[in-house]
Amino acid sequence: PAAEPPQRGLLGRLLDRVAPPSAPRRVLDDEMLEQLEELLIASDMGVDTALRVTANLAEGRMGRKLSVPEIKSLLAAEIARVMEPVATPLPIFPKKPQVVLVVGVNGSGKTTTIGKLASQFRAAGKSVVIAAGDTFRAAAVEQLKVWGERAGVPVMAADQGTDPASLAFEAHKRAEAEGADLLMIDTAGRLQNRADLMEELAKIVRVLRKRDESAPHNTLLVLDATTGQNALEQVKVFRQVADVTGLVMTKLDGTARGGVLVALADKFGLPIHAIGVGEQIDDLQPFDPEEFAAALTG
Ligand code: GDP
Repeated sequence: PAAEPPQRGLLGRLLDRVAPPSAPRRVLDDEMLEQLEELLIASDMGVDTALRVTANLAEGRMGRKLSVPEIKSLLAAEIARVMEPVATPLPIFPKKPQVVLVVGVNGSGKTTTIGKLASQFRAAGKSVVIAAGDTFRAAAVEQLKVWGERAGVPVMAADQGTDPASLAFEAHKRAEAEGADLLMIDTAGRLQNRADLMEELAKIVRVLRKRDESAPHNTLLVLDATTGQNALEQVKVFRQVADVTGLVMTKLDGTARGGVLVALADKFGLPIHAIGVGEQIDDLQPFDPEEFAAALTG
């Protein structure tokens, strides 16, 4: 694997500031719990989730003397416990083509993620067709074509301003005719006009269902993990405009503030199918709760 393991040690670094690894054991009391809560909130976990995680950590342990490494590993275990239920790969259906609709705000990493996923499917021996459904942004279409070439996957595009729903319809026809295993459809990420976006996505879904009643089989919401608490707001909004079935979290490399993943898992329970850890085609990994929790607290 070309990708470096994600580095997400913000929480760990904050912990070190409060209690360096060389610090003596500390008694787990209300004051320490409050400090831990503050740290978790500062790492983008949000208040509710931070309180739940610390409460779970405290249960049956109040008054115990703990070393800093012990605190970290308890915290990591609690975080992993929240994350485990959502760590599921993209479900594969026995449907040809399986239709994967990809939604998210512009800049979140939709195009990149589609390219990376297409490449992974290809490597797994599956045939893929991509539809460049953001027909308004010429640059987005061009970018998607570049990714299609890299992944060795055809990209269907249409003239600028073409109805994305008719492109989706044509792409489905083609994918079916070619016996493709998957059809991945990019969509516009303009949240400025929510009603328009809602109508556009609803129409794509309506039209797809004319060809296959069970489509789309997955609606992936791509979220930029560096946007912190904004990611929570984006989930709320996109769940109003689309039937989101799972998440891909991007930009978990570098200085990402991974705590928001814990809040997302705690609040929405949506599966996290994969994480983006770089800009290259191989920089998409399955979500591993334990590795994530260890990196976050490490
Ligand atoms: P879109 O507008 O949602 O289609 O977003 P793009 O796929 O064009 O991505 C926006 C920017 O984020 C590009 O510069 C990508 O290279 C970058 N990007 C996407 N995913 C990742 C990731 O996992 N890590 C990093 N570091 N950058 C990413």
